[in-house]
Amino acid sequence: MCPACGLSTSYIHDYRHQLIRDIPAFGVPVILNYRRRRYRCPHCGKCFSEHHPFVPKYHRMTRRLVAHIIELLRSEYSFTSAAKTVNLSVSTVIRVFDTIHIPKPQKLPHVFAIDEFKGNTGNQKYQAIITDPASHRVLDILPDRSQSSLIGYLRQCSPKQRKRVRFFVSDMWQQYTDIACAFFKNGTQVIDRYHFIRQMVWAFDKVRKRVQQIYGKKYRLLFKHSKRLLIKRNAKLKDCEKERVNSLLYISDEMLQNQGTQT
Ligand SMILES: [Zn+2]
Repeated sequence: MCPACGLSTSYIHDYRHQLIRDIPAFGVPVILNYRRRRYRCPHCGKCFSEHHPFVPKYHRMTRRLVAHIIELLRSEYSFTSAAKTVNLSVSTVIRVFDTIHIPKPQKLPHVFAIDEFKGNTGNQKYQAIITDPASHRVLDILPDRSQSSLIGYLRQCSPKQRKRVRFFVSDMWQQYTDIACAFFKNGTQVIDRYHFIRQMVWAFDKVRKRVQQIYGKKYRLLFKHSKRLLIKRNAKLKDCEKERVNSLLYISDEMLQNQGTQT
């Protein structure tokens, strides 16, 4: 179909060779040599190329490569590492990212989760991603993880919409807690399991370090690899390891009081 006059033609004028990037195969970059037909309209003389569903307009890459890049960025790849994986420049990957259009949610979900991921877009190292964990949907991506961005986003939603949210899932950042109090008065804030456990492990390891400073020399062998040992699940400890853990815990009252963190 001629883009100028709208009449159809099957008259092939010539072929153009185009290099189209595809998904890397086994880590090796794949470039397709695409022989693209060019038509000349017999009615008005206009020359034009054929369209192929495999290659989106204005891209020198296949649709499935575009989809692959978006998938990488979703799974916490940074622009830099995604670019490296698909053997493209960072600016090309950013251009692909800019073409993603995520529609604003019509309704806020009952479970509203926010987390951050490394994106490097617009000089901001971290972006915030808003998801509905119940339906496994990405609702939106905010340009940065600042409190003001999230507040600006939530202001667009009516109070009635915000009342729908029953659970607000986030990490333990105080700013998120403040937002939960201000915007989701009917909701309960939930600290996601991953961030909660991580904080517990860090806190307990601080205690371990303090105690090791005092007793480390005296019980050198006992403290060897104790960091890993102390956070191991109780059920997975071998008998000899259980004995060591017990000895470690009884070295100091402080360790004993904090052992509840051991999961
Ligand atoms: Zn024409």
